[in-house]
Amino acid sequence: MSVSKKRIVVKVGTSTLTDENGNIDIRTMDHLCRALAGAENMGYDLVLVSSGAIAVGANKMRLAQKPKEIKMKQAAASVGQTELMHLYDKFFGEYNRMVGQILLDNDDLTDQVRSENLKNTFDALLENHIIPIVNENDSVSHAEIESEKKLFSDNDMLSALVAVFCNACKLIIFSDIDGLYDGNPSSDPSAKLISRVEEITDELKGVASGSGSNRGTGGMITKLEAAELATKNGIDVLITNGKHPEMLYDIIDKKKVGTLFVAKEI
Ligand code: GLU
Repeated sequence: MSVSKKRIVVKVGTSTLTDENGNIDIRTMDHLCRALAGAENMGYDLVLVSSGAIAVGANKMRLAQKPKEIKMKQAAASVGQTELMHLYDKFFGEYNRMVGQILLDNDDLTDQVRSENLKNTFDALLENHIIPIVNENDSVSHAEIESEKKLFSDNDMLSALVAVFCNACKLIIFSDIDGLYDGNPSSDPSAKLISRVEEITDELKGVASGSGSNRGTGGMITKLEAAELATKNGIDVLITNGKHPEMLYDIIDKKKVGTLFVAKEI
């Protein structure tokens, strides 16, 4: 099936949505919801893939640090997911938008019956101008939070799979960095932003490995792997800084923002 020119998947990571203590960055979340609602008004269908459940839950449970034990991570995700959805519902509500929660496990995308149901749910939500908000079903599955070799081991890959699944034309990954650099910008001030990538080479992956923040599970390498999957399926991928979600408008206007991974012809 060809990609839908109207469907955009936006992924936002834990380090964009929260501070180092797991407090929600209210301003970023508000701006994100406003930008998505604005893009929806322009006629685009938006799907949001949001991380942050574990960090927000750990903060709400007043844990001294992000939990390490699986069952505690899952408990934190369970607490944090409701808090996240409560806030999304509130902020999107301010902009007259409804949201629907979709929590996914590996099987949901691969099992024929489940994936058919899932597709129908996405379609019905989008047809009714409701913004689906997706996360891994962390309190049941632990593919992402403790993975060896699963279909998706972080929300970056999940967002690419969702983009393919929904036939999106674009995947925007809002990260805590402006895009892909030709070095590590935190240790090398001369590192330069790469604005366009036609081919994801091993050399590029080498540059990307090792960078990332400590609050999410992914780093730049997982974003490149996600970009590889999405571009192979005809989807443009844009990685940019999530602290400025209004850049969504610039991205829609095809202005030069962050790093663009160009979709392959399919
Ligand atoms: N599903 C996890 C969460 O929502 C993602 C963890 C992460 O990659 O930040 O907490």
